[in-house]
Amino acid sequence: MAEVDTLRRFVFERYPFRGQLVHLGPAWKAMMEHHDYPEQVRNALGEAVAAAALLASTLKFHGLLTLQLRGAGPMHLMVVECTDGLALRAVARFREPPASGDLRELSGDGTLTVTVENEGAANRYQGVVPLAGASMSECLREYFESSEQLPTRLWLHADGENVAGLLLQRLPVTSKPTGVLESGAGTVSEDEVEDAWRRVQLVADTVTGEELAELDDQKLLHRLFSEDDVRMFESTPVFFRCRCSRERVENMLRALGRDEVDSMVEEFGQVEVRCEFCSRAYRLDAVDCVALFAGPGPAATGMH
Ligand SMILES: [Zn+2]
Repeated sequence: MAEVDTLRRFVFERYPFRGQLVHLGPAWKAMMEHHDYPEQVRNALGEAVAAAALLASTLKFHGLLTLQLRGAGPMHLMVVECTDGLALRAVARFREPPASGDLRELSGDGTLTVTVENEGAANRYQGVVPLAGASMSECLREYFESSEQLPTRLWLHADGENVAGLLLQRLPVTSKPTGVLESGAGTVSEDEVEDAWRRVQLVADTVTGEELAELDDQKLLHRLFSEDDVRMFESTPVFFRCRCSRERVENMLRALGRDEVDSMVEEFGQVEVRCEFCSRAYRLDAVDCVALFAGPGPAATGMH
């Protein structure tokens, strides 16, 4: 049995490669509880959830990683957020039930945007690639190949019960003038590292969705990298937690403006805002709405 709602790091002792495995079970079901997505949309979102967790766990600061996919196809928007502490939330929008699970058909012409926000430094990094792959892992492969980042590959799986993923990343090494590299286990030649990096990717390409979803971490790593010396670390929990709050909703309404809010109160007697990520409803009656614009409230900052 695979682990549930965990992320585990591992390293290759001989080579400058690291990896991560992620498994979501109950957390994934909780995320989907209030959504009624067609299977193809659900699975595409699940793969993005696994990818976001794997990528967020490589952050070296407190912050937020967002994967956003926009397209002209049946599933026109998908947003997944993951904090460095591995709290996830995800949402997709679709116009009509899609005929295919191929991401190019599901989303149509569009883009994949990866945004990383550093909480402490108020700076953000954003990378955008055209949607060219049949799956999230292919799109992310494009993303990593076209950006100046560490060589990184992901293998992802999602169904109604589970979300799972594997990440492999090649780390920089201290290069010596002779072309000999320092790694954890003494010296290996640059060619050897290059060959090994190719080999581990080919081996990982053989992993099936069932194996990713069902095998526990130790069995999976043994199945894939038995000829390598792989060291596993303690696993860390991954969970679903929405970042919505009444305060954020109030700020969003303030940003909308008094006229807009007044006309909603006039029409419906109250204002109801439902969080798209977790379906939680925030209700403000006429008195709450007057209070929104009375006195110096906090500055409007939108939903984020
Ligand atoms: Zn929410």
